[in-house]
This record gives sequence, structure tokens and C-alpha cells, in this order.
Amino acid sequence: MKTLKTHFIYVITVLFSIGTMAQQKSTTLITNVNVWDGKAAAVVAADVLIEDNIITEVKPGITAPENAIIIDGNGGTLIPGLIDMHAHLAIQEGMLVGRDGYDQMAMGARTGKDMMGYLDQGFTTARDAGGNILGIAKAVNNGLIPGPRLFPSGAFLSQTGGHADTGSFNDEMGATDPLEYHGFGYIADGVAEVQKAARMNLRAGATQIKIMAGGGVASEFDPIHTTQYSLEEMKAAVGIANDYGTYVLAHAYHDRSVNRCIDAGVKVIEHNFLVSEKTIKRMKKEEVALSAQAVMSLVAFAAPEKITFFSADQKAKASRVYKGAKQMFGWAQKHDLIIVTGGDMFGPSYTGAQATNITALVDLLGWDPVYALKTATSNAGHVLS
Ligand SMILES: [Zn+2]
Repeated sequence: MKTLKTHFIYVITVLFSIGTMAQQKSTTLITNVNVWDGKAAAVVAADVLIEDNIITEVKPGITAPENAIIIDGNGGTLIPGLIDMHAHLAIQEGMLVGRDGYDQMAMGARTGKDMMGYLDQGFTTARDAGGNILGIAKAVNNGLIPGPRLFPSGAFLSQTGGHADTGSFNDEMGATDPLEYHGFGYIADGVAEVQKAARMNLRAGATQIKIMAGGGVASEFDPIHTTQYSLEEMKAAVGIANDYGTYVLAHAYHDRSVNRCIDAGVKVIEHNFLVSEKTIKRMKKEEVALSAQAVMSLVAFAAPEKITFFSADQKAKASRVYKGAKQMFGWAQKHDLIIVTGGDMFGPSYTGAQATNITALVDLLGWDPVYALKTATSNAGHVLS
């Protein structure tokens, strides 16, 4: 048995091979590796046999089957493929300032490039937390194009003036925004519209539903203190998701939003950076998972003055989120929440730092590496199962 810390640095190298292989139907034997199963405190020296993309055996001294591809792991560490629990693969840099120039073909091509970056970094699964991803998810999950296995939420559900309202100041009431038309998000108000939007996503392949339950840092119409969606509207989304055998995840920052989400039956809170310890305790008691984004909150927002495209108001909000996040991560660890991690990053130049969402928990918060890695492996698997 060797400690995981000793071999942490080798993880990504080995996973590069796994990500590429995931697209092939074959038998592969990986030898000379130390295996971490996503849960244990230590690694175990073993060989790993993979048949048609399924791990079928993990033990020392496996005899290679005929025609097997053999990979010598060179004593590195082999871990489960990493899971990004908050991707936006179909939202790319430049898109949010150019809604009138949006082009689905170009966006799809850029998303394809981004997905190769995920595989190169060892991320073999991504839960997409909103955007026009349903068609791409079908293509990836059916093996037609390479990419991480996708759990798509489809279009965001947002109220008018909510966090996914990409309309303009001069819109008429009821106008359909260009991005809404292209599947970015549904502006759905009232129980009936929320139910229909949730059903539209699910019939097109969404594996869970994403709602916007409060304000954000970068958006135009919704101050961060706002609570979005009434209890009845949230319950409508949860009811449709539950009837479909799945759950709702919600964008929410503060106590009022998060507690309303829990009242409605939401199972995963995204961000959560401005809540009190009391709310964290409630999340623990009611088994509501936390999905947190370390790069955004602890790295980028540590120096908001350097984010050139932020207004003074956005920089002030980012600074507040940074302070809240440090406190919130501490409480979440103290009360042992189900913590999962994700990027919430847009486009290849940002998602290239995907693993930093895990390593920042070790480097900036002093978390144990195994505890941090569980957020992107076994904890994430628990939420997805
Ligand atoms: Zn997001």
C-alpha cells in the first residue's frame, strides 16, 4: 500500500490514455499501476483489465488476453475518470457578448474541441449545468463523436429577469430572445410554463433539470441578493423531474434561495457561496448535495480587479463571493456535506484549468488530497446515480 499523496502528480498522465481509449471497443490491460478506487485512503498495486470500456478485473498479475492492448503504467497512479459536475460545454467565450451573432454550427465545433480538452485532462464524465447541449450529448453518448460521457441538463429554466434571461432592455413582454430560440434557456414563468419547459428538456434527453433560483455575479438583470422562482414554480420543476425519475439542481447563492429550494425538494445546490452555517446544517440533515466551483470563487474572485470585462459592480459582487466561499467551504467540510466539484467555466482557454477545481481545495484550503479527489469521483458518482 502506498499513500495517494506520493503519486498524485501521475494521475493525469495515465488518464490521458484512458480518455482516448474510451472511444474504442477492445480489450486493454494496464499493468504496473497503483489503483485508487475513488474512496479508499490508500492505493493498491494491481493490473486492470478493461473489456469494451468496462473494467472487468482489478488484481495483481492478470494474464493478458489474446489481442489485448497492453499499457505499461510505469508505476503511476490510476484513478477513476474525473467528473466535472458543473460544465457548460455549449457556452463558449465570446457568446455572451454576441447573442445576435450566435451560430450553432460554430458553437458545436468549439464544444467538440473543448470536449477533447476534457479527455486530455482526465475528465471522462461531465454533468452539463445548462445550455444547448442535448444534441451533442446524444452524439457523444452514442459514440458518434469523442467526448466525456455527458449528463445534460439542457436549457436552463429561468424566470423573466432571472439568471438565464439573456434578453435585452427593449424586449416586448413575451418576446423570445435569440439565445432562448437556440436552446440556451427557457424563460418560463408560472407553474404551467415551468412544467412545459422541464418536459421539453426531458423529452429531448436531459438527465436532470437545472433551475435558476437566485441572482448571479455576471448577469445583467438579476442582482445577487434576489430570490428567483416562487415555491410553487420550484415544486413544479421538481415534480416533473421526480416523475421522470430524476432530480433538480439549482443555481443559488444565499440562505433565502437555498432554503426555498430545499423546501421544494431540490437535491443539489450549485454555488451556495453566501449561505450561513445554519443552512449548511440543514443541507446535511436533508441530504442535499453541494456543487462548488473553486476556480471561480477562490482563484478568479480572489483578484476581481484583474477581470477586465467586469464592471465595478460585478467586481464588488465577486469580492463578496470570494469571502463567502472561503467560509462556506469550511462549514461544508466541517459538517461533511456531500460535496461535488465543477468548473462553471466557458471555452477551452478556461476549461484547460479544469483540474484546478480539485487541486485548489488542497492548495488553498488545506484539504486532504483524497477528500478533494472524492468530490470529482465517488461523491459525484453518488449524485449521478
Ligand atoms: Zn453555471
